[in-house]
Amino acid sequence: MQRHYRTGDQALVREINLSIVLNHLSDTSPLSRARLAEMTGLNKTTVSSLVQELLERRFLREIGREPSGAGRPAIMLELNPHAGCIIGTEIGVDFIAVILTDFRAQILWRRQEDSAHLQGQEAVLARAMELIREALAVGWSTGTPVLGLGLGVPGLVDGASGTLIFAPNLQWHNVPIKEILSRQFPGPIFVENDANAAAWGEHYFGAAQRAKNFIYLHVGVGLGAGIVIDGGLYRGRSGYAGEIGHMTLVLDGEPCHCGNRGCWETLVSQEAVIKRVRRAIENGASSRVSDLVEHRLERVSVPLIVQAAEEGDSITRQALQETGLYLGIGIANLINAFNPELVVFGGVLSLASPFLLPAIQQAIGSRSLAESSQTIRVEVSTHGRDACVIGCIALVLHDILSQPTRTLRADAEGRWSSPQTITLAQ
Ligand SMILES: [Zn+2]
Repeated sequence: MQRHYRTGDQALVREINLSIVLNHLSDTSPLSRARLAEMTGLNKTTVSSLVQELLERRFLREIGREPSGAGRPAIMLELNPHAGCIIGTEIGVDFIAVILTDFRAQILWRRQEDSAHLQGQEAVLARAMELIREALAVGWSTGTPVLGLGLGVPGLVDGASGTLIFAPNLQWHNVPIKEILSRQFPGPIFVENDANAAAWGEHYFGAAQRAKNFIYLHVGVGLGAGIVIDGGLYRGRSGYAGEIGHMTLVLDGEPCHCGNRGCWETLVSQEAVIKRVRRAIENGASSRVSDLVEHRLERVSVPLIVQAAEEGDSITRQALQETGLYLGIGIANLINAFNPELVVFGGVLSLASPFLLPAIQQAIGSRSLAESSQTIRVEVSTHGRDACVIGCIALVLHDILSQPTRTLRADAEGRWSSPQTITLAQ
């Protein structure tokens, strides 16, 4: 029995060491074997053996030599972009986006479609499935395995079962999304709240790469947060943390889709900005945006508001400044609660960041405690409207880098790479 345990321990230690090597190369590359040994504290023989396994399994590749002091030039290593493909999908309130990337998150293929015309949950899910099947076909055509699928949704997600519990802006309840997707794709599937996924994406590939304590704010149709504490996503007891769009900011304020009133989201969202501009125009103000929509106010959108503001229009600039002020007030509250080093914001409102940021900074300066706000950075998402789908890629990659052996085993068995194993029927 003792021997059995020792074998188990060795397998576990090797799994951890493989993960350590992969994670170092994900953070910094290229690196030589000697440098990897220095950085990880593992001895050179162990590193060579681990690297050999990862090379054989195509997770790493050698990319030539670099001078290494006295000895002969060292062979450099990096993550192999051709190790496999990953699919990221976002079901938004009014759109569906699907991307296929290589193992280093470079986008190989993408589709984004308006979904507002689709009638109901089943139609939206069916269309998302079709796009995922297209992505799978493209992934397989590269001759590499499709290693995983991440999906972001605008609502509360039970992480263990991958069930969407409630999406206020879609009015979807208890949808077993992971189970539905697993009928199409037998590999690992991760279903996550959109802002949580985006936070992870910024942490892996974006503005928050070196940050251990930060908050990602997704400002689109709704307003949600992904909260990273000590380098890990904070999910709360049941995975519902981060629903900060539903903090009450105004007693008896405007009704919110969640059933409450005066939520932060009713003051800061795509709809809130559009309403501010429309109201001003309906009250007789003249705005460049009226010309841009040929006086059909139902066509007012955030990109057009930004365009008008860039052209010097004062009504849209005022609307954005007011929105920035409320965004900043909420951020000041979060700074006081969490003392983060960084707040990143993305979603469609990040298109307006040059007009929002001055008001955000002003509100933070006047409303959060000086001790916390002096060192805070507020930045715009590196990936903009792609923040969530890129985050979905990061969810899959994070799982692979944490447990490489499981992925290697499945890959060796060809489980995720063969179209024959997948049900392509509707
Ligand atoms: Zn609400």
